[in-house]
Amino acid sequence: MMQLFMPLNFLGFVYREMKGSLANIDEMFGLLTKQPKVVEVEQAATLNIIDGAVSFNDVSFHYHPDRPILKGISFSVAPGQKVAVVGESGAGKSTLMKLLFRFYDANSGEICIDEQPIAKVSLASLRAAIGIVPQDTVLFNDSILENIRYGRPDASDEEVAEAIKLAHLSTFIAQLPQGWDTTVGERGLKLSGGEKQRVAIARTILKRPPILVFDEATSSLDSQSEQAILSAMANVTKGHTSLVIAHRLSTIQDADKIIVLQQGEVAEQGTHQQLLAANGIYSRMWQIQQQEE
Ligand code: ATP
Repeated sequence: MMQLFMPLNFLGFVYREMKGSLANIDEMFGLLTKQPKVVEVEQAATLNIIDGAVSFNDVSFHYHPDRPILKGISFSVAPGQKVAVVGESGAGKSTLMKLLFRFYDANSGEICIDEQPIAKVSLASLRAAIGIVPQDTVLFNDSILENIRYGRPDASDEEVAEAIKLAHLSTFIAQLPQGWDTTVGERGLKLSGGEKQRVAIARTILKRPPILVFDEATSSLDSQSEQAILSAMANVTKGHTSLVIAHRLSTIQDADKIIVLQQGEVAEQGTHQQLLAANGIYSRMWQIQQQEE
């Protein structure tokens, strides 16, 4: 039954995964008949969330044995901290998050939540503890109200309204022809990337997961939309352990820790100020982005 409640946002991950890895329909059937990539241990325990600490301990991973993607990754996220992961395209940032969600298993090393190895707990309890705000959010052909309520199907209208406010969607929804009853999705109103990401934020606010993963959009948003997202994110991350995949360094200056990935390795880690003072990779990335802006 829990499978049915697998976060819809996760489907975005799955969709991109399939789209990226399937050349044709034969391959798709090949994929479907293969063993699932992750299996639960027998009588898997339920993840017991205490305060939402996350740790990666010497984690290595490859999609294909001849091409290591993550090499001996270690870092920790203390309860309630916001940790950002940065690095050039292909460095392995999204892969890290896929491992945390157990879309794949690490080849070696261990990922723990509150000191429990995620490989030992039930997938449903693991995925229920993590809220993902992906770059592209899948929307149902249904009203925007129901699309948001999907974050917690038993949420009252008042709770949805509060989530809409915190996600900075109130003004947008007020302008729609039928307000929050307006149909969105493939056969309804098309939302922009920034609006869809705020729908994902509203869902996550309703779900209130102890651990949050935010995948910042690579496509540039106009600065008003970006500010709305950042402020909505601040509302949702407050007091929650959060991991942010960031492309624009200006958005993560306040992070408790920044992990700089380079070719699958943690090349640097520290706060924005510490990394600037270190005058290394992060500092160079910062200078380049400042010049571009
Ligand atoms: P970006 O900033 O562009 O999103 P990233 O740092 O998130 O990049 P990943 O998406 O984690 O990088 O990809 C890391 C490497 O793994 C890339 O070289 C990518 O081509 C490869 N990769 C990602 N997904 C798969 C897959 N399903 N099968 C094989 N290789 C993959």
